Amino acid sequence: MDLKGKNAIVTGGARGIGREVALRLADRGANIAIANIGFEDEAAATAAECQAKGVKAIVYTCDVSNSENVKEVVAQVRKDFGSVELLVNNAGITRDNLMAFMKEEDFDKVIAVNLKGTFNMTKAVSALMIRQREGRIVNISSVSGLMGNAGQVNYAASKAGVVGLTKSVARELASRGITCNAVAPGFIQTDMTKDLDISANPLMQSIPMGRMGHVDEVAEAVVFLLGADYITGEVLKVDGGIAM
Ligand code: NDP
Repeated sequence: MDLKGKNAIVTGGARGIGREVALRLADRGANIAIANIGFEDEAAATAAECQAKGVKAIVYTCDVSNSENVKEVVAQVRKDFGSVELLVNNAGITRDNLMAFMKEEDFDKVIAVNLKGTFNMTKAVSALMIRQREGRIVNISSVSGLMGNAGQVNYAASKAGVVGLTKSVARELASRGITCNAVAPGFIQTDMTKDLDISANPLMQSIPMGRMGHVDEVAEAVVFLLGADYITGEVLKVDGGIAM
């Protein structure tokens, strides 16, 4: 699919991986709706950078874990942009702890944002895509969801759930011209990982490529899958080899 002139929703597009995806899509000529829960200044800055590349970009305050909020935002995006062809479910949080110390609310919160948020947005946007008979969805999973990770029972479960959701949506919607794929990043340098110490973390020390990844390396994979016509239900790892 030629991304020029297509309309994209990027959740969590204010910063980190989502911001880089928004900028790369703008480079390809796609218009951008940033759906972000907070960080208004960062979201506005990302939108301004996209606009400077000659595309339309609007910020929507949206909590992806709230299905009513998601429905309202998607309806507003449709009014503002006319259609939605591209969806990147990137919004995500961590509440790490060893399971013995993990609070129930921290389990529920991570599932609500990472997994149910992906469901909420995919359900609302795919209703438009089905009518259009055209759509590309990319969900951000994680190698934690593929391998497991001590201290991330909640997060790994949510990201494994995203893989199952991705493959099921891919099967349900393939006949409607809609693809659904996932990108599973390894350890990527963003605010989410800024407190991790690579020298003290045995899992990080086992990265074959010996370094953390950069946001542009993940965004490149996301944009590739958004443009691909005959790939669906795939999980593309961008992890320096950690989960091979
Ligand atoms: P960041 O924390 O830098 O950015 C996450 C973004 O999601 C923020 O803009 C945040 O907004 C937004 N967000 C959080 N909760 C919600 C919500 N309920 N509704 C809407 N937006 C929300 O994270 P990264 O860029 O590192 O991560 C992006 C994605 O990549 C996540 O899904 C993450 O799990 C995944 N990932 C990241 C890895 C890494 O190493 N960094 C590795 C593997 C996967 P606000 O700041 O306002 O809260």
